Amino acid sequence: MSTTHKPQTKTNHPKRPPPLVQEDMQKYQLAVEHASDHIVITDPDGIILYANRAVEKITGFPPSEIMGTKAGVKWGKRMKHEAYTHLWNEIKHHKLQFHGEFQNVRKNGEMYTAEAKIAPVLDAQGEVLYFVGIERDVTQLREVDRMKTEFISLASHQLRTPLSAMKWFLEMLLDGDLGDLSTEQMNMLRNINASNERMIDLVNTLLDISRIESGRLVIDAVPTDITELVTGLRHELEPLMQAKNQTLTIAIADNLPQVTIDPRLIRQVYMNLLTNAVKYSAHSTTITVHVFVKEGMIISTVQDQGYGIDVSEREHIFEKFYRAKSAVKAEAEGSGLGLYLVKSIVETSGGTMWLESEPWQGSSFSFSLPIR
Ligand code: ADP
Repeated sequence: MSTTHKPQTKTNHPKRPPPLVQEDMQKYQLAVEHASDHIVITDPDGIILYANRAVEKITGFPPSEIMGTKAGVKWGKRMKHEAYTHLWNEIKHHKLQFHGEFQNVRKNGEMYTAEAKIAPVLDAQGEVLYFVGIERDVTQLREVDRMKTEFISLASHQLRTPLSAMKWFLEMLLDGDLGDLSTEQMNMLRNINASNERMIDLVNTLLDISRIESGRLVIDAVPTDITELVTGLRHELEPLMQAKNQTLTIAIADNLPQVTIDPRLIRQVYMNLLTNAVKYSAHSTTITVHVFVKEGMIISTVQDQGYGIDVSEREHIFEKFYRAKSAVKAEAEGSGLGLYLVKSIVETSGGTMWLESEPWQGSSFSFSLPIR
């Protein structure tokens, strides 16, 4: 009898774990059965084949009521049709893992928020054998988030009133309404005024963030001429750029169509990116704004020749309160909230935001806006 042994060659297949013995199988079974997250295994049509104990604990439905039914039908009634179709398309046709958050309903009618991950398990031919759905009840976490957002919103509102009063009185003093002041007194008041303005900006940013996070941001979209909006910023940026002897180049494609956007918010996006480009670049550098149309979107890019962002820090740059180490050294002033707000505004307006950067060779922040 002859047996053919395959030569030991390197393959691209991941190394298989050693076969499971009965004892290991029991351990895995127990771990899945007692996991605190809800775990469901379904066939390729989503029909439940297995549900662990947490499923009953979280949804309230005992296994006898859900085995053989389609996953999520009993507890996930709130999902919109388009979202449901998108989910199935992702996991069944594209065979990708889905990660999302749902508003579900327990058997007793109580609503809860579930963070869900659904992954297809494929056979050797790449066909779907099963789906594994893991859901975590994040109701309490989301409630804490909501309370935090509400607190920030309340605190910002309360802070705005005294800051506005200070601004008003400072302007009166600076205008000489209460008599002449010495140069030293004027300089000091100007510094106080600048700090007060920064505080007002910060409070307004916090208010906008809390509005976005709580879904209360009202987008007042009107047909807008981007060319006019962008060129109008030059005048406002002049004092900042002159102080650093920087140059602003604006390159806008001809015949840019009008877009239906909220001009106040999108203006804030450009201003934030441009003031960052000024702040995080050396003297005598050039900042360039490109605006053009690509695949039904208006693409805007703000490019600088500044300090750039290290690879290791790039993935955090749009996070709330994140500031790169180099930036903190070069520019002490900053909250790390601007880019978070900018990205949220762009996404709420139907666009996306991305960044290209090399340390010490400049950064290029881009965002897209749908034309329709
Ligand atoms: P802030 O400027 O108030 O710190 P932002 O949210 O606007 O906050 O920016 C977050 C961080 O991203 C900045 O602290 C800085 O590290 C980095 N950053 C933003 N824009 C640039 C830029 N054009 N060049 C280099 N780094 C930048």
